[in-house]
Order: sequence, then C-alpha cells, then structure tokens
Amino acid sequence: MKTLVWVEHENSLVKDATRSTVTAAAKLGEVDLLVAGEGVGSVAEMAALIAGVGKVHIAESPAYGHALAENVAPVIVELMAGYDAFLAPATTTGKNISPRVAALLDVAQISEILSVEGERTFTRPIYAGNAIATVESSDAKLVITVRATAFEKAEIGSAGAAVASFAGPGDVGLSVFVGAEIAKSDRPELTSAKIIVSGGRALKDASTFAATILPLADKLGAAVGASRAAVDAGYVPNDYQVGQTGKIVAPDVYIAIGISGAIQHLAGMKDSGIIVAINKDEDAPIFQVANFGLVADLFTAVPELTAKL
Ligand SMILES: Cc1cc2nc3c(=O)[nH]c(=O)nc-3n(C[C@H](O)[C@H](O)[C@H](O)COP(=O)(O)OP(=O)(O)OC[C@H]3O[C@@H](n4cnc5c(N)ncnc54)[C@H](O)[C@@H]3O)c2cc1C
Repeated sequence: MKTLVWVEHENSLVKDATRSTVTAAAKLGEVDLLVAGEGVGSVAEMAALIAGVGKVHIAESPAYGHALAENVAPVIVELMAGYDAFLAPATTTGKNISPRVAALLDVAQISEILSVEGERTFTRPIYAGNAIATVESSDAKLVITVRATAFEKAEIGSAGAAVASFAGPGDVGLSVFVGAEIAKSDRPELTSAKIIVSGGRALKDASTFAATILPLADKLGAAVGASRAAVDAGYVPNDYQVGQTGKIVAPDVYIAIGISGAIQHLAGMKDSGIIVAINKDEDAPIFQVANFGLVADLFTAVPELTAKL
C-alpha cells in the first residue's frame, strides 16, 4: 500500500505528531510526505530525514502558508491519484484538513486511530475513550487521522529522501487568512511534554492557579495543563485544556491537582505513564486511574511538595 502523510510544521520545525503518524503509515506500506507552506524548504529537508520516508513532495505557495484546509486539501486530493491511503495527525490542523480530503475523495474518514490491525483494519476510541472500536474500511482510498500518543515517533535518520516540487491548485478562493493570536510560553508544549502539572476548578481563580501550580511546574520543568472547568472559569487560556474537547496527552508523569477526574478529562490523559492525583475528596474518580494519590488540601500539600523538591 502507498501512503501519503501530511507534515504538520511550524514553518521551520516538523512537529513531533508527524513522526508518530509516519510510524502508523509505515505499518501500512510505503510512506511519502507532503510539506505544504510558504518558504518551507528547510522543513522539507528535515522531513526527508525521517526514517522510512521514500519521497517528500513540497508544495510552496502563499496560498498554503497558514495551512488553510480549503487550499491544502485540494493539493492532497491531486496527489492521492498515486496513493492508497492518506494519514494526518489528529491535531487541530490535521482534524481540519483531513475531513475535507475525505469528502473530496468521497470516502469515510477513519478518525484518531490507536493501532493498525491490518491493511484496512484499525482500532479507534469511541464514547470519549471508554470503549475501543475495531473498524474495517471498504473504501477505495483510506483517509485516516492518527492519535499521536498511541504511536512511537519515527526516528530521524541520516540519509535524506528525495524532495520533489508539486504545484497543486494554489488559492481556490474559499478562505482568507486574517490573523492569529498565538500564546507564547517558555514552558514545554503540552502535547510533547514529559511532565505535566494540571490544575482544576479547585484552584479558585487565575492568580491562585498561577501562584499554586506554576512554582511546582517550574521546579519540575513541566508543562501546565488544566481541566475544562478551570479553562471555562478563565484561570488559564483555552489551549491549556486537557481532555476530550481539549488536548490528548500522554506524558511520563501527569500530576492532577484539584481535578475530580470526569470521564471527559480522563479521555485526554489516562494513557500517561504515571498519574499522580492530589484531591481532598478520597472518593474523587481521579483516584481510580492514579498510580499515586494524596488525599489532602492542595493549598497545603502543593506548596509543601514544591518546597521539598
Ligand atoms: C461534551 C463535554 C466535553 C467535555 N470536555 C472536557 C475536557 O476536554 N476536559 C475536561 O477537563 N473536562 C471536560 N468536560 C467537563 C467535565 O465533565 C468536568 O465538568 C470537568 O472536567 C470538571 O473539572 P474539574 O475536575 O476541575 O472540576 P470539579 O469536577 O468541580 O472538581 C474539582 C475537584 O477539586 C477537589 N477540590 C476542591 N477543593 C480542593 C482542595 N482545596 N484541595 C484538594 N482538592 C480540592 C474536589 O474534591 C473536586 O474533586 C466536558 C464535558 C462535556 C459535557
């Protein structure tokens, strides 16, 4: 089977989720990549070093500059004439582009696969991860999004794959990039961090959240996450949210502080290596998934823990 993987990048760096997607694609057969964007020659060179990649298509145009699904999907659809399967990471942008590719190819997308069981058979989470479905596709071409945390990142090799230019249809005139407000942070990125300290509703307000969670995260070199309740209450920005409607994370260590452990939150973090929970309610559901649980008032326990580290 010939597979095409869309490369998610930040105009200079290939994002880690792409490498996990390559691992998933390699289980199906040959892997080629598409790097679309403006001034992305160095991204294509970097992508060409990913182990197992046969060829990198580079589509350069201002039209592809901000990964607008309306302009990028037709590039993929043109390329798909020569491929059996298209894979993208199940990230915000991947989840924007991929359904449009599926619709244009008139096939059903297989979303957020967790494993490859056969050439056309995959597992994927349903009911917020409470059940795992095994699905088989009978479509002529496969369109798949990949849960990055379920696959190892493909290695970076030393031999570069061939890079070939591909024009694509350019601007199809359906959407225009207006602007982006990007939160800047010196902390590790949530989806690739090895340690995450997350806070919930119990943190009261933005300043209490910052005063309690950030010193612990700083000591551990950790990324900061939050429950939806904490985000909705304005303690932290939206992109901190972990869970079914937030980010799916699987760090080595996840520390949940003042988070009850609702299924929608667990859906985003229960694959973490070690889960530590601090909660004053010993019956909180978070303790059912925690490897280490501390029943305590977080306003005493967290400063004490931070001071001892
Ligand atoms: C469709 C849908 C999608 C959703 N998606 C998400 C999602 O992506 N992510 C997500 O997180 N939620 C999501 N939710 C919301 C989810 O159902 C919960 O409401 C939310 O996770 C609760 O957040 P919380 O644990 O911070 O708050 P709560 O459930 O209110 O829990 C607060 C916890 O803090 C503890 N506590 C209070 N004071 C202290 C203290 N002083 N010391 C120690 N512990 C203390 C309490 O015992 C309690 O367990 C979704 C809901 C729906 C319906």
